[in-house]
Amino acid sequence: GQVRKLGVPLLDQHEVIFLLTEQEGEESRVVGAIAIDQTKAAAGLAAVAIFQAENVIMATGGPGGIYDTVVYPAGHLGSTGVALTAGAAAVNLGEWQYGLASVKFRWNVSGSYQQVIPRYFSTNPDGTDEQEFLNNYFPTMSKLATGIFLKGYQWPFDARKTRNFGSSLIDLLVYQETVGKGRRVYLDYGANPKGGEGLAPFGLADLDGEAATYLKNSGADGETPLARLRQMNPMALQLYLDHGIDLSKEPLEIAVCAQHNNGGLKGNRWWESNLRHLFPIGEAAGTHGVYRPGGSALNAGQVGGYRAAEYIAHCYAERTIDRETFRHKYAGQIAAKIQVVRRALQTVGQDGQEMSSFRREFQQRMSQAGAHVRFPALVKTAVQEGEQQYRRILNYEVKLNNPAEILDFFRNRQLCLTHLAVLKSIAAYLERGGGSRGSYLVIE
Ligand SMILES: Cc1cc2nc3c(=O)[nH]c(=O)nc-3n(C[C@H](O)[C@H](O)[C@H](O)COP(=O)(O)OP(=O)(O)OC[C@H]3O[C@@H](n4cnc5c(N)ncnc54)[C@H](O)[C@@H]3O)c2cc1C
Repeated sequence: GQVRKLGVPLLDQHEVIFLLTEQEGEESRVVGAIAIDQTKAAAGLAAVAIFQAENVIMATGGPGGIYDTVVYPAGHLGSTGVALTAGAAAVNLGEWQYGLASVKFRWNVSGSYQQVIPRYFSTNPDGTDEQEFLNNYFPTMSKLATGIFLKGYQWPFDARKTRNFGSSLIDLLVYQETVGKGRRVYLDYGANPKGGEGLAPFGLADLDGEAATYLKNSGADGETPLARLRQMNPMALQLYLDHGIDLSKEPLEIAVCAQHNNGGLKGNRWWESNLRHLFPIGEAAGTHGVYRPGGSALNAGQVGGYRAAEYIAHCYAERTIDRETFRHKYAGQIAAKIQVVRRALQTVGQDGQEMSSFRREFQQRMSQAGAHVRFPALVKTAVQEGEQQYRRILNYEVKLNNPAEILDFFRNRQLCLTHLAVLKSIAAYLERGGGSRGSYLVIE
């Protein structure tokens, strides 16, 4: 609303694929950007738009597109790799938040979705062989039910909470079922956790103090998780109904998903990158560390926006490069980048890996080797495989089915670089002897 009120021109559907830069002594700065107009992508080169820019605010979100198992909205891929290619530095890239989320409609199953204590079960991929897979790992029903309850406000996976039947043990067991055994995991709101495997039947009266008090104070004393959710938070049921999932009729499939990149592009206290005149803000900026207090992602995005705006208004308001100089001075750089677009378009119909399969390859690598369970040997192999894959796209050893896929080519190119940078950051930490912390467990 504010942008429209001030009459700032908006160019929707333009996706930046390159930043234009200039070396100034020891430092570099951005001077513009090249984008593809998505509405014209099928027209190939005609879709390319070139922008001169005194300053670039980069609010492109976290690089959720590098993972296979994610709760980011489908279109939110991130563009960190565009800035990395231009020479922007990053920080804490390996620090993320992972947690339990539904996969059909992407949504965190935190808060009341856990506090009503649904039944967890797993099945074979074809839905057969239902198992109460948590039961073997908890000594009593009270501990199991309390662990599920606590997931509500201990949502992200936390390496510190995997011991002593902590709530993050549940994420680990879900991971063991889904990634380790190739099974599917569901939350059933129609039934309480089932006893068996040495566990007594579920009873609200047997819950540990904190959970019992909370449910009592919320008036959530219904017989089933569904009844308790209706009492505690009916909107939570409605949300899924709005997305075609009726929790009273079907179980909810879940997985441990990547949710937020705590690291990102490096900035100074004005959110300016080492690549001067570039201001990464929001989740694209690496403003958080190993842990991130809940809610602070949105706040950090707003603070970064204000800081960048203040700095630009006071220090970078003047235009330092006029239109004519821009046209002549950067013509060679622009031509070289357009040549990359031209060359990518030449892969239409040639032999090679298709864009969808190319993306799946690095996404699956990340979810297996670079998510909340990290095996140093797997990370090492993943770095080597990631390097090979990135070389393939740099050498155009891929295939576009039609010119409209040009955007997928550039998305994959920058996402592939980003996944490699994240893996290298993880590998560097492990090589220095780093262990479990934040939202990941390191298993030797
Ligand atoms: C399920 C879920 C729940 C969350 N809950 C919370 C919470 O409770 N509290 C909290 O603080 N945080 C939460 N987060 C994190 C928080 O929502 C995000 O960190 C935040 O929304 C990111 O905002 P952003 O503006 O930086 O990026 P985004 O909202 O991701 O927006 C980035 C935009 O940039 C566009 N874009 C990307 N690349 C390009 C390009 N090359 N050219 C042009 N445009 C581009 C994208 O299309 C997108 O529109 C949650 C995240 C998820 C996924």
